Amino acid sequence: MNIPVKAYLDLLYNYLKPQWPKVMGMAVLLFSSIALQLLNPQVIRQFIDRVQQGVPHPALLQMALWFLLIVLAQRGVAIATTYVSQQIAWNATNGLRRDLTRHVLKLDLSFHNAHTPGELLERIDNDVDRLGNFFSEFLLQILSGLLLTLGVLLLLWREDGRMAGLLALFVIAYLVVHARGQQLATPHWEKERQYSADLMGFVEERLAGVRDIQTSGAVDYTLLRFYALVRRRTWQALKADVVTDVGWTISKIFYDLGTVAGMALGAYLFLRGQITLGTVYLVLNYLDSLNGPLTSIANQMEELQQARVAIGRVQTLLQTPTKVLDRGNTTLPTEGALGVRFEHVAFRYHEDAGVLHDLSFALQPGQKLGLLGRTGSGKSTISRLLFRLYDVDSGAITLNDQEIRQVRLANLRQRVGLVTQEVQLFPASLRDNLTLFDATIRDAQIWENLRRLGLDGWVQTLSAGLDTLLAANGGGLSAGEAQLLALARVFLKNPGLVILDEASSRLDAATERLLERALDSLLAGRTAIIIAHRLATVRRADEILILEAGKMQEFGSYQQLANDPNSRFAHLLRTANLTADLTANLHPENGASDPVTQLANHNHFSMVAPQEATV
Ligand code: ATP
Ligand code: MG
Repeated sequence: MNIPVKAYLDLLYNYLKPQWPKVMGMAVLLFSSIALQLLNPQVIRQFIDRVQQGVPHPALLQMALWFLLIVLAQRGVAIATTYVSQQIAWNATNGLRRDLTRHVLKLDLSFHNAHTPGELLERIDNDVDRLGNFFSEFLLQILSGLLLTLGVLLLLWREDGRMAGLLALFVIAYLVVHARGQQLATPHWEKERQYSADLMGFVEERLAGVRDIQTSGAVDYTLLRFYALVRRRTWQALKADVVTDVGWTISKIFYDLGTVAGMALGAYLFLRGQITLGTVYLVLNYLDSLNGPLTSIANQMEELQQARVAIGRVQTLLQTPTKVLDRGNTTLPTEGALGVRFEHVAFRYHEDAGVLHDLSFALQPGQKLGLLGRTGSGKSTISRLLFRLYDVDSGAITLNDQEIRQVRLANLRQRVGLVTQEVQLFPASLRDNLTLFDATIRDAQIWENLRRLGLDGWVQTLSAGLDTLLAANGGGLSAGEAQLLALARVFLKNPGLVILDEASSRLDAATERLLERALDSLLAGRTAIIIAHRLATVRRADEILILEAGKMQEFGSYQQLANDPNSRFAHLLRTANLTADLTANLHPENGASDPVTQLANHNHFSMVAPQEATV
């Protein structure tokens, strides 16, 4: 992974600029800490030399006090540094988390189909976590480490040129050896991060499908896969750790060799009377105090290697463009039904197979379309295109004669209501689930809507009314009740076009009646596209569209098609009728004279079986 320096600088600039006063404060703290670190050995050196010279006690006491003061100041600065640097790190990483989350929430469905939530979580939290240090300390630590090293070399040079020369050589060798060791470790860490993301993705997916795993007896198999992924990651982390550690050890040995050389040279010069004992101490102390800055430079280089991997991935994610662009600037009327027109629409999810082909039809405002077709024929795809979860490949979709790509996305999704087969419920109160956490919607408004949908009675039967707490994944509600809730949710938006991608789930008779009544109110005065799995709902349609492998097979008014004995729709009705008659004979209580009413009474009638028998 090759990341240009500009990428690092851009990141630093974007997230540090808003908090520049803190960054300046941090710089002041770091430089004060350097000055204090350089000052202390000088005090001790003087102390030793004066003791040797036999100066009186009060002067020595004064020097000891100075020493104490400097040490205390050093500690104080260290605490303040931690406080400020942590603040900078959290502000910067939270800013990055915010931008990543916003970006991910805006990315289109084709991106989300390709990336599991677990994988994205790893990006948004773990990778960003790794950048905390990069934001708060990287530049300043490297800078202050280098400055401190330079300061030490300069002060030593004043004492003795040979000593300073020896130390300079040693510093360079140490940094080179260390950098080389880190380079060897980087690819291992990159692999480790990828394995970790794979593991997260796996766990998240399996937890989401826990019911299927339990019912299909796949727990043991899932655990086996889990062990394999954990094992792979563990070995990779161990390998990366060992390689990193070997690099550290070699550079440590270098450091110790440097200390030995310094001691030998110091002893030699002292014995020859060229330097005082205090200076020998000073040299050894500086050698020792180089440990701090050199380690911190080395640490920062190591952190940078880790940050590099994270930066690469964060940048890739931030640069992933959304295919559904929000560039429109027109809006749809706030009230009233919307006219719908498809003009030669073609669409495919992947290059290889087209899903919709040259689809054209139109609905007047307020008309209801019954959309029929075999499973996989592209019905739900039509609803996703209208909602702009994807954009068409060619052709155009218009609402009230406005191309939907020209309409502001938020406005489009406000005016189009989509009730899908899967109702996403949140672990929150019924109220929050209805308003989707929009606190500006008042209770009176919610009750008014529920009343108009005929659902107020149902909500009153729930234990705490609107305050009833729902569990995650809709725990506590039946599939039918979740559908009721979804209808009420869409109703609150007051959409001009409603798309019902109806669930074929079995509903009990009471819920079914509630649902039917709610639907009547929901659809009144709105344009609707009803994707019908049960013929009962098609009863409301003015127009019928039959889709076959993404192509329009039949389109026309309900009555016309039903009365035309050669139409596919009439064929469908006849087959459905036959099945309904059979059931009616088996259960005479269902028997009704009008075939459509018969079908409506027949709650669980599925379109799939008769279609496959006839189409
Ligand atoms: P059903 O009656 O089962 O709900 P449908 O008519 O709604 O079926 P669609 O969901 O529109 O069918 O799917 C149409 C085709 O597109 C199918 O062949 C399906 O496999 C494919 N498809 C659907 N969603 C995706 C996706 N996210 N990525 C790739 N292909 C997809
Ligand atoms: Mg579907």
